Amino acid sequence: MTPEAAESDVIIVGAGMVGTALACLLGQAGVSVSLVDARSGPVEADTAGRGAADRRVSALTPVSQRLLEGLGVWERMQKRRVTPYHHMQVWDGEGSGEVSFSADQAGLPVLGHIVENDVVVAALEARLSELPSVQCHFAARVAGLERRSGASALTLEEGGSLVAPLVVAADGARSPLRELAGIATQCGETGQVAVVTSVRCERPHGGVARQAFLADGPLAFLPLTLQGDARHCSIVWSTSPAHAEHLVALSPQALGAELEAGIGGHLGAVTPTDRAVSFPLTQRHAERYTQPGLALVGDAAHSIHPLAGQGANLGLMDVAVLAEELLTARRRGLALSDEAWLARYARRRRGDNAVMLRLMDAFRVLFGTRQPALTLARNLGLSSVDRLGPLKRLLMQQAAGRRGRLPASCR
Ligand SMILES: Cc1cc2nc3c(=O)[nH]c(=O)nc-3n(C[C@H](O)[C@H](O)[C@H](O)COP(=O)(O)OP(=O)(O)OC[C@H]3O[C@@H](n4cnc5c(N)ncnc54)[C@H](O)[C@@H]3O)c2cc1C
Repeated sequence: MTPEAAESDVIIVGAGMVGTALACLLGQAGVSVSLVDARSGPVEADTAGRGAADRRVSALTPVSQRLLEGLGVWERMQKRRVTPYHHMQVWDGEGSGEVSFSADQAGLPVLGHIVENDVVVAALEARLSELPSVQCHFAARVAGLERRSGASALTLEEGGSLVAPLVVAADGARSPLRELAGIATQCGETGQVAVVTSVRCERPHGGVARQAFLADGPLAFLPLTLQGDARHCSIVWSTSPAHAEHLVALSPQALGAELEAGIGGHLGAVTPTDRAVSFPLTQRHAERYTQPGLALVGDAAHSIHPLAGQGANLGLMDVAVLAEELLTARRRGLALSDEAWLARYARRRRGDNAVMLRLMDAFRVLFGTRQPALTLARNLGLSSVDRLGPLKRLLMQQAAGRRGRLPASCR
């Protein structure tokens, strides 16, 4: 450790949605934070949520919304762009099973909101600029991690170092910090690739999030109203690598025709408004979430198939719990590197995330099968869920993020 290293209580590596939300939670409680990210600077605040749609969107649950409201961030997002959805329709494109959910049935004002990732980050960054205890370091890439006598030192590729009792890895699914710390992951290849793009449809989306399970994987049309025009949707098509390659190579007209057919013509003709790009989908789960002086959150701890739109929601729940435990430890005079309170964070989050990862894997396998018996079972299953009121309500509450003991910031 060099004597000139900048010191703070917590270093957060990764200023995506999850790391920036944690910086806000800690910063508003007066904890000194260094937030480090490799990207060149803050999100383009003038354009986020004002012009064309960001290709990366997330379906945020009412529980995540509550967290962002408490941070004073949700209102800023609303001023840019968020699209509520009140209904969800899920059907088996290879059979007859169908289930539909509505906010009324769940006793909720909305099932969730579709938000562009850059809108969330821009609003969080605006809040951060009001918190004097948070220092942002952009264009800073982590090169090394050293642990010595109750403190961790991070060296940066660009030179200089940062020191704190606690380092939090929020640096995404491939987390370089997790690697530096030597934490292994259980890795499950999904055999699928996500193709994402934005489209305008002939018919309005009607505030409905739609998902069809097709032969190669699920196709989602997520409602995203742009400048008052409710005919726009964001697309996530999880499919085989060969089909993904085919989709991204299509002309806009041919892609629109495949999307229209895939969603069963529910929205009429579909016109892509953006290029289609693809991401490989790998499920990873870190074997441990903590070690002395280090915690993993968000995709650095778990990356999950997007079919139920849970990744960012789980990450936001991680940081709500981590901040709650850290602030309690601080009030009790415990060191921020103390293993006992870090273990409480891991206990509260790892089991919940593991259940969700297994559930997504089971869905993917069940809907990826062409075996007649399983196809029949899933069609009967979907239709039974649709008819069974209490089970359906339970599933809706779960999808809305109401699982287990929620941290105070999300209640
Ligand atoms: C197609 C698709 C659809 C999805 N849909 C949904 C959805 O509907 N709902 C939902 O909840 N989730 C969804 N997700 C998941 C969601 O996008 C992620 O869970 C979420 O963005 C993870 O946020 P994060 O902040 O943990 O990581 P990231 O957003 O990956 O941020 C990591 C940050 O770390 C920085 N970084 C990386 N390496 C370094 C380094 N060496 N030094 C410094 N900085 C570094 C990066 O620059 C980046 O800013 C979807 C994902 C995909 C792929």
